[in-house]
Amino acid sequence: MLPFMRSDLAQLTAYSNHMEDDHQHEIAWVDRLDVNENPYDLPENLKTQLVTTYQTEIANNRYPDGDYHDIKQMIANYVTESANLSNPIYPQQISVGNGSDELIRSILIATCLSGEGSILVAEPTFSMYAILAKTLAVPVRSIERSPTNFAVDVAAAQAAIRSHPDVRVVFMVHPNSPTGNTLTESELDWLRSLPESILVVIDEAYFEFSQSTVVADLAQHPNWMILRTFSKAFRLAAHRVGYAIAHPDLSQALEKVRLPFNLPSFSQAATRIALTDRQHLLQVVPEILHQRQQLAQALARHPALQVWPSQSNFLYLRLKPTVTHDMATDLQTIAIQLKHQGTQIRHTGGGLRITVGTPDENIRTQSRLMALADRWVNVQV
Ligand SMILES: *Cc1c(COP(=O)(O)O)cnc(C)c1O
Repeated sequence: MLPFMRSDLAQLTAYSNHMEDDHQHEIAWVDRLDVNENPYDLPENLKTQLVTTYQTEIANNRYPDGDYHDIKQMIANYVTESANLSNPIYPQQISVGNGSDELIRSILIATCLSGEGSILVAEPTFSMYAILAKTLAVPVRSIERSPTNFAVDVAAAQAAIRSHPDVRVVFMVHPNSPTGNTLTESELDWLRSLPESILVVIDEAYFEFSQSTVVADLAQHPNWMILRTFSKAFRLAAHRVGYAIAHPDLSQALEKVRLPFNLPSFSQAATRIALTDRQHLLQVVPEILHQRQQLAQALARHPALQVWPSQSNFLYLRLKPTVTHDMATDLQTIAIQLKHQGTQIRHTGGGLRITVGTPDENIRTQSRLMALADRWVNVQV
């Protein structure tokens, strides 16, 4: 079938955020704790503003503003202010994308296509780098993280780069998904030591939760790029808005490969409204962090569960190795049974990743997961 398709496409599957056993009618009542969204929708007054903007300012028959100057200026101001920078970030250093996923793809197109390069990732990590690389037939080199604290083995990373001289891009998440850990000083020293012939992408999708950023380092490193998104803390996942911060030359290179008008007018309006009212919008962040703390403490008390510290709005956990001889199957069982009870989480990277939701959702997560995990309490492997 379809003999005109690229032969390697047969191995790929289309992205879906639903589990295989999903039935449409189930979706409405499930606690959606699998994709790390903010559990709160935009406040009513902002929705009203957005409606008014739609009715009075957006011409549906016109293409969007395609150079995004206002948005870039607002983002640059936010980045500068939130990192307390003494030297401001300029709008020329900002690129915007249809979600940061689009920016990841633009990065791959701009660096590795035509068989010119490969990327390096440290597993477990955000799956989209490898997924998008494969759609473009870009090779993925991967190294493992420490099984205890998920730090990158810097010596192994150096060795991987030596044995794969075609590595053009290193992707790191700060804090990492799904494991929740921020970059350590030794990981950062390694990234700082990489030659300028390698692009270092640091994905700060969870910055508003971790409050940890490497943006101050950009001035010394023209080969670094930071990715951010409005899909998580800023509550705009429906609008698909991400951005990159980098040296102006690097930003301009990304512009060359993006689709025209990649950010719809309505998404631009939502971004403006969210940034203008950011103090109000981000007020729920401390509460989410407090909820994370409570959920982590409760789950960690369960004798069969191992819970890692998280700097983000999700938790990562596994069964203790002493209670399972088939971690992957047992975790998959837990994820599916939780789903049947109405709590959807993500089984990924050899563990379970659970988004911190509303207090009610977290109480349900806690009681359902603790009850399911009881089955492993007296198991000895
Ligand atoms: C959620 C997430 C993104 C992405 O998002 P967009 O919705 O495409 O902006 C990027 N990187 C990481 C690590 C994420 O968790």
